[in-house]
Amino acid sequence: MSIKTKWFFKSLGFLLVLFPATAWGYIGPGAGFAAVTSIFMVVASFLLALLGILIWPIRILKRKIKNRGLKKLSSFALKKKKVIILGIDGMEISLLRNYMDEGKLPNLSSLSKTGAFSTLGTTYPPESPVAWSSFLCGCNPGRHNIFDFLSRDAENYLPNLSMAEVNPPKWNLSFGKYKIPLSPFSITAHRKTKPFWVSLGERGVNCVALRVPSTFPPDEFPGVSLSAMGLPDLLGTQGTSSFYTSEKSDSKINTDGGVIIPVTEEEGTIKAFLRGPLNAMKKHPSPSKLPFSIKLNPDNEGAILTIDGETKINLPLKKFSSWVDVAFPMSLGAKVNGICKFYLNKVLPHVELYVTPINIDPENPALPISHPPQYSKYLAMATGKFTTLGLAEDTWMLNSGKLDEEAFLQHCMSILEERERVFFHELEKFKRGCFIGVFDTMDRIQHMFWRFLDTEHPKYDPKLAEKYKDVISDVYIKMDGIVAKVLEKVDSDTSLYIISDHGFKTFRLAMNVNSWLREEGYLVFEEGKDSCDKFFRGVDWNKSKAYALGLSGIYINLKGREKKGIVEPGAPYEQLQKEIIDKILDYRDPETGEKLLYRTFKFQNIYEGDYTNNSPDIVLGFHPGYRVSWKTALGGAPKPIVEKNGANWSGDHCMDPSFVPGVFLSNKQFKNNQPDITDLAPTVLNEFGLEIPEGMDGKVLQ
Ligand SMILES: [Zn+2]
Repeated sequence: MSIKTKWFFKSLGFLLVLFPATAWGYIGPGAGFAAVTSIFMVVASFLLALLGILIWPIRILKRKIKNRGLKKLSSFALKKKKVIILGIDGMEISLLRNYMDEGKLPNLSSLSKTGAFSTLGTTYPPESPVAWSSFLCGCNPGRHNIFDFLSRDAENYLPNLSMAEVNPPKWNLSFGKYKIPLSPFSITAHRKTKPFWVSLGERGVNCVALRVPSTFPPDEFPGVSLSAMGLPDLLGTQGTSSFYTSEKSDSKINTDGGVIIPVTEEEGTIKAFLRGPLNAMKKHPSPSKLPFSIKLNPDNEGAILTIDGETKINLPLKKFSSWVDVAFPMSLGAKVNGICKFYLNKVLPHVELYVTPINIDPENPALPISHPPQYSKYLAMATGKFTTLGLAEDTWMLNSGKLDEEAFLQHCMSILEERERVFFHELEKFKRGCFIGVFDTMDRIQHMFWRFLDTEHPKYDPKLAEKYKDVISDVYIKMDGIVAKVLEKVDSDTSLYIISDHGFKTFRLAMNVNSWLREEGYLVFEEGKDSCDKFFRGVDWNKSKAYALGLSGIYINLKGREKKGIVEPGAPYEQLQKEIIDKILDYRDPETGEKLLYRTFKFQNIYEGDYTNNSPDIVLGFHPGYRVSWKTALGGAPKPIVEKNGANWSGDHCMDPSFVPGVFLSNKQFKNNQPDITDLAPTVLNEFGLEIPEGMDGKVLQ
């Protein structure tokens, strides 16, 4: 069967998996930056990919016409030049320097002495989707349009995942109990500028871009890329795991990032279901299910897993299984493929089984997770199956206390190994052009283990700290080993850049910004209500002047922009913006008297470009130790204004960018010792002799 035919049949299967309009996601310390997307994303992307394949010849012709005027680069440049960019999400320069001084990082250390080594200016706010978008486009958020993990829908004040938007079909045909779409889904990537490797590819430069955040949906270009942050699981969320427990519990509990499912043990056997995507082609969509059972071994040291009555897998206690293929049954015999891992956490006194989010199968992707779509299949066949979920490291498991540090580390390290396999498989073959690969395990580990570096953190525990104090330095050491292997590929024609998008600091106290707005009279609740957990439930929009959503900013309830806006544009808007900026900057921690905020910004002063108006009206720059609360991010306004961070998610970077710059290392030396994350794109284009396009804010590093 040809690839095109296979995709066609797969699409038929997927056409049966259409989904409900309401799929509000969640964001919380459990999931980290979890889902605010719907399963529409999965379907829409898939249909879009199908359409893409069907009109492939037209696209090639179109590209040829579009690129007619583009001169290919000289064969000399194409043959000789190699640029390698190694991205390490969240590498903190103060830790890097300490570990270098302690002699733990010989490769990074020697590079820092012979080449360039400095901080790397990051974005307002220093969040990965924002910063990596600025890296790949060479511009500020006002031009690329990604301002936070979340954006808000001005029509209903609800959060959206900032990276892409999916629109369901306008027309459907009702047919018995089915609902058949007559018009297509459309998916819009919110990032408005293209990665620099697209320009390189169009000029004939060989490009490989692996797991760069904010590259889902994948950009089309003459080269290969594998998507990362923003890529959903098979449920369409940013990662929903399942925790089955036979401990007495009333009912299923949906938490931020995971679902706790009660099960019953009968004669050493537990029967349950894996949750799959909804079959929304039905008028009343229901979730697809895949039955499985585990039979406990007589020695209580493990179990045998049976899926769909067939596949038998040995599950030792406290050890992650390898990837297991799962196929969820849809209508008319169609199936949707995914992969997941199982972890038997406990057998006595009750059984606990953890299942990772169901990842899109890279070998059999239900939607395009790479460009070209077959690239992920090729990588999986060459290196083995790998996690495809953007935010793959499941911080929920550790934050909820369902699994312990050991399990989380085991999970993270296996993901890191997969990424290493894919990265070096491709780097080995790389002879010329531009190669970019990002590793993000360091970021996730620092989020969860920072409490062991900070004796003042509410979650500091001396016993655990003794055991886990080296986890963070170990991941730096691991990355130093990766750097050593990369250096083997660096010759005299190679420019090597090692960068991080932001640094890290402790996160001890969370500010409920909406609660502060309520206290100051800017956010008003309906009669009889004075707080809410999320989604601004009970807020009276006819009386509210401002609200906070996402991890970095405050919006003004502006007339003509927000659905129920009451603040007049012009002078009243500007006056209110200034008033809030001044007041919140003065807010102090009631316990210590310290200011929480270091700086507050009018968006007009920090952004430039066509999309600045989509940003929050006020951007918050916290002092280290403080951050916007998880509840604020989803439009919650609990009673207290500040709350101690009692979560294992204890390190963060959502603060003033001056405290958490990224890192810049290169085998080359530059006069400019204060590079910015936007400088990489123009610098690399310049290396290949390309002109710097208009709209890039970064400068060529000299
Ligand atoms: Zn992070």
